[in-house]
Amino acid sequence: MIKCVSCDQTYDDNEIVYICEKCGSVLEVEIENNISKDIFDGRKLGLWKYKEFIPVDYSNVVSLDEGGTPFCRCDKLGKELGIDLYVKVEGSNPTGSFKDRGMSVGVTKAVELGVDTVGCASTGNTSASLAAYAARGGLRSIVLLPAGKVALGKLAQAMFYGSEVLSINGNFDQALESATRLANEKYIYLLNSINPFRLEGQKSIGFEIVDELGWKSPDRIILPIGNAGNISAIWKGITEFYNADYIDEKPIMTGIQAEGAAPIVEAFKNKSYSINPVENPETVATAIRIGNPVSHIKALRAIYDSDGYVDSVTDEEILDAQKLLARVEGIGVEPASASSIAGLKKLVDKGVVDKGERVVAVVTGHILKDPDVAIKASAKPIEIEPDFNQLKAILEKKVS
Ligand SMILES: *Cc1c(COP(=O)(O)O)cnc(C)c1O
Ligand SMILES: [Zn+2]
Repeated sequence: MIKCVSCDQTYDDNEIVYICEKCGSVLEVEIENNISKDIFDGRKLGLWKYKEFIPVDYSNVVSLDEGGTPFCRCDKLGKELGIDLYVKVEGSNPTGSFKDRGMSVGVTKAVELGVDTVGCASTGNTSASLAAYAARGGLRSIVLLPAGKVALGKLAQAMFYGSEVLSINGNFDQALESATRLANEKYIYLLNSINPFRLEGQKSIGFEIVDELGWKSPDRIILPIGNAGNISAIWKGITEFYNADYIDEKPIMTGIQAEGAAPIVEAFKNKSYSINPVENPETVATAIRIGNPVSHIKALRAIYDSDGYVDSVTDEEILDAQKLLARVEGIGVEPASASSIAGLKKLVDKGVVDKGERVVAVVTGHILKDPDVAIKASAKPIEIEPDFNQLKAILEKKVS
């Protein structure tokens, strides 16, 4: 059953509906389950390990074996911050971001509904993921991207998997408005995170985290917020496992926005559920360069219900954290993802995160998504002739 988060109006799972027809608010899929978690024993980690919690027909599944991503304990960085730190590396998904979890479920739903064209607006990763899963599911796909604002790796993926790519002279929020209109007029089945089935896939990040911790909740989960779907999804997953009695506690949900795109931070300061959209969002972290996050109500609910926190970080803090994670722990992420780590650092300094806390930082996309940023932030390769003496001289100079 699909249910409005604001007025409790319900819709059938097979109705194509993105916002509540009664009140205009966002929707979510309600699931009921009282199976024992023993059913998961012996199954391989990944989204579909938990298929009893995923409200689509598994016989139609469109999957690239998403999820089951690395869960890296980071002792060095953890020690530096005075916490027990784990990093969930979502860049290891099939197209390099967590969007694959949502897209596997979303495209499976599209096939189940019998639609032939799927589409989305995207800052990049959603389009890369949609393009791949639409190909796998045999569907036509249309993606709308803000012109000149999509990182190179993501653009390459969307084009190469065979989506019809439209570049809009505007920002993401404007692209989403257009995509929503196309969906309302039935040209496409919309697979942005306003589609509640997307979040049904992404909630598996929450499932995996507690599963990997031996059916225990961490003290805190921290992640970037862009359109605010993922934090909502993870909280939904955690809450479902809590309600099923698989875990005894729930984590403190902590979201991090980029300073130039931080409407949820402002709402949080006002203890409100409503946001003032940011007109011209700007940040190096293009995946979270979003001024009017569609899932803000769900995200704020996750934050308030978990005694959580939201803060923003500057581009400089993001780029520093990106480098730190790569150079101290060997984990390469795109800028948006590094806002988890930048935010964590800031909240440790502020005393919001307590010493000794067990924290899971979700890093959302792969370093190769945005090669321009990585190259710009690094020292240039040293050019030499194929001459061993020259090579030796350079190495000796470096080590001494
Ligand atoms: C989509 C995305 C985000 C933001 O997630 P939301 O669900 O929109 O809040 C963060 N990082 C990366 C790499 C993304 O692709
Ligand atoms: Zn409603």
